[in-house]
Amino acid sequence: MGDVVKFKRLSVAERYKGKTLCDSGFHKWEVRKDQQFDVKQGRLMTIYQCKHCAKTKSKAL
Ligand SMILES: [Zn+2]
Repeated sequence: MGDVVKFKRLSVAERYKGKTLCDSGFHKWEVRKDQQFDVKQGRLMTIYQCKHCAKTKSKAL
């Protein structure tokens, strides 16, 4: 009877940890007008910013 805690239930926040979780649930991404040039990849990146927490992410065009 030692495996009772084998499947520890994770909260939603824990399950989505490191993904797109915002203070209010999910990020609301908005494309920012300004674009950024990624030196490493050598191409333009689109910048997204969350309306709720102002976190940013970038995506290659
Ligand atoms: Zn957010």
